[in-house]
Amino acid sequence: MKIETFASDSDGVWKRFLVYRCPGCKSRHTVVIEGPGALTWDGSYDKPSIEENLVRFGPKGSTYRCHALMRDGMLEFQADCSHVLADCTVPVPQLDEAKVAKPLFKVKI
Ligand SMILES: [Zn+2]
Repeated sequence: MKIETFASDSDGVWKRFLVYRCPGCKSRHTVVIEGPGALTWDGSYDKPSIEENLVRFGPKGSTYRCHALMRDGMLEFQADCSHVLADCTVPVPQLDEAKVAKPLFKVKI
């Protein structure tokens, strides 16, 4: 399994997330797959796909940006990423443990 799912009610709303460690940002990313703001996941753990773009921004005032597509278990980092994996495609890494976290992604259409 490359992605863990878990539920969180830390903000008072039940959600289910996919969680993985982003090899570009070197940090944990979460994607809501059930609940308010959920993205479209194909249900696969081994080769997951998310229909929408995955975009993460840095702190306010920062120009940091992580922009990827998740398709068939691969992260396709787009050219507008700030990190070194811009324009690279890498496997979605396995996660060691699942912890409750708030979603970090915004949807860009
Ligand atoms: Zn990232």
